[in-house]
Amino acid sequence: MENAARRWLYGRDLAVWHAPEYRWPMSALEPRTGLSPRRADFALWFLLEQRALRRRNLRLPRRADYQELARVHTPELLDSLGQAETLARIFSVEPGDVPVDETMNTVRLVCGATIDAAREVTSDATPRRLGRRALNLLGGFHHARPDVAGGFCAVNDVAVAIAALRAEGLRGRVLVLDLDAHPPDGIAACLAGDSSAFIGSISCSDWGPLPNVDETVLPEKAGDEAYLAALDALLGRMPGGEIAFVLAGGDVLAGDPVGRLGLTLAGCRERDRRVADALVRIPSVWLPAGGYHPDSWRVLAGTGLMLGVRSKAAIPGGYDPLVAKFSAIAHSLAPEDLTEPATGIDEIAEELGLATRRRRLLLGFYSAEGLEHALYRYGLLGELRRMGYGPFRVRIRDEGVGQSAKLVDVPSGEPLIETVFERREVAGARVLYVHWLALRNPRARFSPERPPLPGQEVPGLGLAREMTELLLRMAARLGLEGIAFRPSAYHLAFEGREMVRFVDPARQGRFEALSGLLKDLPLAEATRAVAEGRVRLDGAPYVWEADEMVKWLAPRADDRAAIDAAKAASRFSLAKD
Ligand SMILES: [Zn+2]
Repeated sequence: MENAARRWLYGRDLAVWHAPEYRWPMSALEPRTGLSPRRADFALWFLLEQRALRRRNLRLPRRADYQELARVHTPELLDSLGQAETLARIFSVEPGDVPVDETMNTVRLVCGATIDAAREVTSDATPRRLGRRALNLLGGFHHARPDVAGGFCAVNDVAVAIAALRAEGLRGRVLVLDLDAHPPDGIAACLAGDSSAFIGSISCSDWGPLPNVDETVLPEKAGDEAYLAALDALLGRMPGGEIAFVLAGGDVLAGDPVGRLGLTLAGCRERDRRVADALVRIPSVWLPAGGYHPDSWRVLAGTGLMLGVRSKAAIPGGYDPLVAKFSAIAHSLAPEDLTEPATGIDEIAEELGLATRRRRLLLGFYSAEGLEHALYRYGLLGELRRMGYGPFRVRIRDEGVGQSAKLVDVPSGEPLIETVFERREVAGARVLYVHWLALRNPRARFSPERPPLPGQEVPGLGLAREMTELLLRMAARLGLEGIAFRPSAYHLAFEGREMVRFVDPARQGRFEALSGLLKDLPLAEATRAVAEGRVRLDGAPYVWEADEMVKWLAPRADDRAAIDAAKAASRFSLAKD
């Protein structure tokens, strides 16, 4: 569509705010809470790839300064945010899991973005008849009160942005539409003195009366129809205003472990359409608020699609933003960035004893420098830096079986990533065979909520998905057909279950039957039960079968019938000690 026609129809370009630091730098966050640190990245990558967002409309946030935060929050609260213990409580992790400066950097960038987004949509640059829109890909920290933080909300970016606009002379009414599954208790507390503000909310948790909130509490699993009816009623009661903040919560999605409203992805998109239409003449800032389901990035990307290009098209079910992103990076990496040119001179010098042995190449291709460069380009080194590590060295060694590559944190000497692999044939195909893979976060501590798994010396890094994708890109570059490994214990197969499958369909079926039996046990307990022989198959103690699991680069169809037959035939039971 022509640019001019597009502007006429939709009336505005969507400005989107995002920073690489929007990924929360806490490796325990996802395993402990379900909050995916990748949500903002995934939504951004998808919107750019779909051309629903043009690069010139992408805004890089600045950090809000403490003066801006202090318009809303007490000095005591702001002081306490410098302590790992406070942030650990807010984010439901252990203090050892919180890099304080990096976490507060993220919080302040989000606040800076919400403030600047609010300024941009209320500036006089566009005709008044059309409300401009901005989307901040993180934020909507609605549970933070002036003096109390909690529920993943260290400070209240919405209240901070409203206070900034007021300080700059905004007089009219401010609207807040809180469409997260939880009530806007923090926003209500922050705006208690603003008698003209309108706060509308639909949630499914009754946290007691919030006097200044138009609150609708729906039953659990209300679903699209009931939700959209309540939304229409709320939008009907909403007065006019100078600016609206929309918390397009991701935790309304069906299956969300924290929100329980049970909306479909299509229902979420329809929610956004109705709100956008109701705000056609009112400038609005949109924020993602909560979302604890693996698909919550789809809710956020959907909000971007609706606001940016008014699309109702579903995001394909099999689409994985990480795969798309990593394959784009792989295409941009030239082979000479990863390996070492063969000069011939080295060999002669080596023969004559004039030079030390040539540096080892991993799998005959990757130099240590090349691997370090790849880890940097795929973003892993950046994430490790934010967790407080670096500078880094990669070490390659020949092992009894295959070769090892380690990423070492130079100051502590601690390995952060350890791998041992070789080329091998599995099921008639050449694959990258992973003998060992460990992602280590030696700064983090185990806790009763996050106990060690067998063989685990320190907690993980939260980068397993990126690492798996990186190994697949390596396999592709080496001309191999996939990656394979042999899980020596139940938990290793369980952790890889979304990515890898047992080669043998009957074995996959037995594994699925077993994980069905153990699904309600914490993973550490489940894997111990298998290792200690407390699981029985057809009445006899079951011995873990460490068979090969594989992920093919070119997806192959599962032999579902054979898997299901084996699954149905496997009678697993759990002995009582
Ligand atoms: Zn929520």
